Amino acid sequence: MHPLLLEQLGRVGLSLDDPSLPASWRALVAVVQDAYARSDEHRKDLEQSCRASSRELERCSQDLRISQARLGSLLSLSSDWIWEQDADLRYTYISEGFQLATGIDPATLLGRQRASLSSFDAPESEKRKFQACIDARRAFRNFGYGFLDEDGLPRFLRISGEPILDAQGRFAGYRGVGSNVTETMLSSRQAERLSRYDSLTALPNRKMFRDELDRALARARQQGQRLALCFIDLDHFKYINDNLGHAAGDELLKIMARRLGGLLWLKALVARLGGDEFVVLVENAGDHAELEALTREMLALIGEPMRLEGRDYGISGSIGVSVFPDDGDDAPSLLRHADAAMYLAKEQGKNSVQFYTTELARRAEEQFKLEADLRWGIDHDELVLHFQPKYSLASGRLTGMEALVRWAHPERGLLAPGAFIALAEERGLIVPLGRWVLGAACRQLREWMNAGVDVPRCAINVSAHHFATDTLVDEVRTALEQWQLPAEALELELTESALMVDPERANTVMQQLDAMGVLMAIDDFGTGYSSLAYLKRFPAHCLKIDRSFVSGLPHNAEDSAITQAVVAMADSLGLSVVAEGVENAEQLSFLARIGCHEVQGYHVGRPMPAARFFALMEQPLLVGATA
Ligand code: C2E
Ligand code: MG
Ligand code: MG
Repeated sequence: MHPLLLEQLGRVGLSLDDPSLPASWRALVAVVQDAYARSDEHRKDLEQSCRASSRELERCSQDLRISQARLGSLLSLSSDWIWEQDADLRYTYISEGFQLATGIDPATLLGRQRASLSSFDAPESEKRKFQACIDARRAFRNFGYGFLDEDGLPRFLRISGEPILDAQGRFAGYRGVGSNVTETMLSSRQAERLSRYDSLTALPNRKMFRDELDRALARARQQGQRLALCFIDLDHFKYINDNLGHAAGDELLKIMARRLGGLLWLKALVARLGGDEFVVLVENAGDHAELEALTREMLALIGEPMRLEGRDYGISGSIGVSVFPDDGDDAPSLLRHADAAMYLAKEQGKNSVQFYTTELARRAEEQFKLEADLRWGIDHDELVLHFQPKYSLASGRLTGMEALVRWAHPERGLLAPGAFIALAEERGLIVPLGRWVLGAACRQLREWMNAGVDVPRCAINVSAHHFATDTLVDEVRTALEQWQLPAEALELELTESALMVDPERANTVMQQLDAMGVLMAIDDFGTGYSSLAYLKRFPAHCLKIDRSFVSGLPHNAEDSAITQAVVAMADSLGLSVVAEGVENAEQLSFLARIGCHEVQGYHVGRPMPAARFFALMEQPLLVGATA
């Protein structure tokens, strides 16, 4: 019997042991007994499940504590943080990591919106994408932005977030994470910096310059402004690099970069394109006069003496300028035109500025073609030698000849040296040309000698470049040997200016030639600045008075005085004198009167092809020369 039922029955004085108890009561008690038993079962079940739930609950909250602790310690370890915003996008929560990453106390941001924090910055397109996500209440990933911290240093952050929805599925705010990416950003910017700047001079390099030029052109177009490009090439860089070594060359470039950068840092962008080529980009460029003044300023700065390896050097530069929109509409044509202008500046004698013009372009094009033609012509025997006689004034006899080069250009006919010598000098063709002349003259002399005539000495012109090579002496020796000529058959005409570049060295080279028995004349005498001291030491045998003095004879008092002085000086130094460019009888008799030894000029004989000169050698007397 269920104890509770037994107690109830006891209270009302009933006992099932009482035999007088009616059967109906017994049945009732049995039913109640049954109900009590069932209810007990239920309660037990209930109690059991209650115990189970509370155990479960206990376990869950323990898990939660563990994962909270885990998250907490992870957050405190990383530079990342968690944030939450309400439906108005006001911060409701920001974890500690934020302080570490930004130096900003998160508490100061609670209740405020991100948009109200004015200092954050990102590329426009990124900002637009981000805003579109926010407006649409969509999730966003890795939105990067930067700001300056209280020390003024840049910091870069990256955030991701997703919307929070309430039980009814309504937008209730955002929740997300943020991380500090300053280090990564700075190192990738550093790498980018390295790829955009020249490591030697720290100036922008070609790549960066091209980017800046494109941007500047877009601005100039939009605002209707002029823009100028100035190409600068240093005239003596190669010399310094070759003679003082690369370290000195590098030093020179660094000094130039500092000078130009210093002059132009407010006005223009200076970049190094490579080698000794610098370029200056002038935005909002003024008129021609203003640009001219600016480029003159640059030249003056470049030309300031520079100390390298303990010695002062005077470097000069050549500048070519092109202007948008006059000389080109896009970067490639402006660059090409500034470059072409620079080449012409160089050709015009260094240390000069040249502005691009279409006439200039035409000439540059022409020169370019001529250069290619000449290269071909030298290798394919398009050059020819003409010979001009020299006569003795005392005897009227043929005493020598000068070999003068001509170029039988396939389209333009026979060209005089004036049309191509300067170009050959500028483009490095003068040495091969000089070698050709040496060989051709020797071959011609041998041919004439073999024909049995009395061949007088032949002079050839040696350019300053050729004279400066280390090979000239050997080349002369080899040519003489090859054509079996005595050294006296040849005479070298060296210009005053070629000798005065480096008089000490000139003297050494001349001594070597002299020892071989080769004679040397100083050409164009009077036009340079030979010092008498050197003149005395040079082992030359002859001075050639330049045509420019002879043309004034006999009426120009100054020319007459100079000519007489040169003759007197030559006499006292034991040198012979040749007057060049004698064009008439008056000049001839004046020169005879003052005791000049030899003459050369149209009046006594023009330069002529070899065959005609051959005939002349058979008639070696100048009729009426000794008037
Ligand atoms: P240069 O060495 O002073 O040669 C004399 C120049 O004067 C020649 O000019 C000759 O034709 C010219 N001439 C001679 N007599 C007279 C005259 O009476 N009146 C006038 N007006 N001119 C006269 P060209 O042949 O045109 O040569 C010019 C210059 O080109 C030469 O001056 C020389 O510096 C250079 N040159 C010529 N051939 C060579 C060469 O083979 N190698 C090098 N490096 N230079 C050369
Ligand atoms: Mg000459
Ligand atoms: Mg001359």
